Amino acid sequence: MTFAVHGLPVARGIAIGRAVLVVSSRIDVAHYFIKPEEVDAEIDRLRVARNAVAEELQKLQGNVALMGPNEAPHELAALLDVHQMLLQDEVLTNGVKHWIVERLYNAEWALTTQLEVVARQFDEMEDEYLRERKADLEQVVERLLHRMKGTAAVLAPTPPRRKRSADDEDSDLTAGDGIDAPLVLIAHDLSPADMLQFKKSVFAGFVTDVGGRTSHTAIVARSMDIPAVVGARTASQLVRQDDWVIIDGDAGVVIVDPSPIILAEYGFKQRQGDLERGRLARLRHKPAITLDGQRVDLLANIEMPEDTAGAVKVGAVGVGLFRSEFLFMGREAQSLTRLPDEEEQYQAYKRAVEGMQGMPVTVRTIDVGADKPLDGKSVRDDAHLNPALGLRAIRWSLADPAMFLTQIRAILRAAAHGEIHLLIPMLAHATEIRQTLSLIDFARAELDNRGMVHGPVKLGAMIEVPAAALTLRIFLKHFDFLSIGTNDLIQYTLAIDRADESVAHLYDPAHPAVLRLVAETITECRRQGKGVSVCGEMAGDVAFTRLLLGMGLRSFSMHPSQILAVKQEVLRADTSKLTAWTQQVLDSDDPASLLAPATATQ
Ligand code: PEP
Ligand code: MG
Repeated sequence: MTFAVHGLPVARGIAIGRAVLVVSSRIDVAHYFIKPEEVDAEIDRLRVARNAVAEELQKLQGNVALMGPNEAPHELAALLDVHQMLLQDEVLTNGVKHWIVERLYNAEWALTTQLEVVARQFDEMEDEYLRERKADLEQVVERLLHRMKGTAAVLAPTPPRRKRSADDEDSDLTAGDGIDAPLVLIAHDLSPADMLQFKKSVFAGFVTDVGGRTSHTAIVARSMDIPAVVGARTASQLVRQDDWVIIDGDAGVVIVDPSPIILAEYGFKQRQGDLERGRLARLRHKPAITLDGQRVDLLANIEMPEDTAGAVKVGAVGVGLFRSEFLFMGREAQSLTRLPDEEEQYQAYKRAVEGMQGMPVTVRTIDVGADKPLDGKSVRDDAHLNPALGLRAIRWSLADPAMFLTQIRAILRAAAHGEIHLLIPMLAHATEIRQTLSLIDFARAELDNRGMVHGPVKLGAMIEVPAAALTLRIFLKHFDFLSIGTNDLIQYTLAIDRADESVAHLYDPAHPAVLRLVAETITECRRQGKGVSVCGEMAGDVAFTRLLLGMGLRSFSMHPSQILAVKQEVLRADTSKLTAWTQQVLDSDDPASLLAPATATQ
């Protein structure tokens, strides 16, 4: 039966494919694809873990048998028997093998996937006693996962199958759709680190139950340039493994088990999207100059040094934001040291510089905390705390000067290989500025003392806290350029958690207060001859291109996937005609109502 689930659109386009459910488990589980030749070894890992757990349970059973009824009630012995039975159960073992052999999931992912399948069967049972066995099954699977920890293969997210082309979508979905079908990922929640892992894989689209439009999970999804919907609330409970799913990333709708008519309609939309992309690709080598001759820098936001290839491909003239924290995340799942050392970071920044082939690279120092935990565990687990207002970004760095100095030294060393701009996130206080600058000086002196080569950097601050936007004078005294982080500026100005889908309708980039802070920052920087750019999601949203141009912005940093669409807007704009309209928007109580008509008249 066809049904639809609604959420928030985060990345454009239509994806049609089979659902792959990533189930949240109490244990942090790595998800990756193995290579076909690794299937036997993976099944073996599972077998070894199962034998070890069986032995563990046997020992427990032996101990219980030696205890008196006061120490170990009968129920305990019976429970251990049930656990042994579940461990050997064919539905579990065969199902797990199925996901490994047919889908090339790593053993942990296969286990949690099969757990979900069987758990749903338990949920549907009428007998209460049997229904409650679900908890036992979860415990058995957790024992297995614990056993397997530390024996994971090196991550190998190799695509197991080709991506279905748009032309395939007309075909009968039930016929021959096995190994060649595209896959779409459905999850309750994915950490930014998980997303990074999936970035290297084959998914044609994403859906998560939670998250707002500018949550970091959504941002990484957007950087993958595949249709995605977040905040779809119950999607991961309603969709089953292998269901056919349409993700409409423009409307924020997920259609499950679509009828042939719906499928044909979305197949058409998908082809239209492909045509539009093809058309935009022709703008790749065209300089971004407005009708009245204003040159505009369209820069890329990246998460990893390897993303520079995609940035160059779409004609980015530099990197405006390298979110360096992604080098620090998800390392445990890859069996790496907790933090990257100076050499590893230096190599990463150097790769980014080399990747940009002489164009500038803006490296932002680590911004973890809030919805970007270092490890898989959410900081939000501490329900009484508000992580977005806590130890995040520069606050985190200043609280751990050794870690910060390591990063600064690595960046300064990479600056010997090309133009690097050093960007500091989330500053709000003059004392933070002073401490940061003195640590940068200290790092430089350390390198001199060690006789290590390093290069000059331009220093920039992010304006993403209202307090910073209201005290620009202090910032402009110390920094060469400012970069406006609208994602956080909106979050902190409107007091709306950017990752919380329940208040997503109030997260409004066109709120007059936000527009005023953005406009004043741009004006003040220009007045003082300092560089200014916008690197939040607003910079890549074509609905705001003309307004930002009208405010005087000439430097936009966004995901490479958005550069060509924004370039099209730039090429069609005449900034000399935007001043009066921009003022009207800034003076309005309802700026959003003015944005669309102005775009149409250009
Ligand atoms: C921002 O806040 O706009 C920004 C670019 O930083 P991040 O999204 O990484 O918080
Ligand atoms: Mg930010």
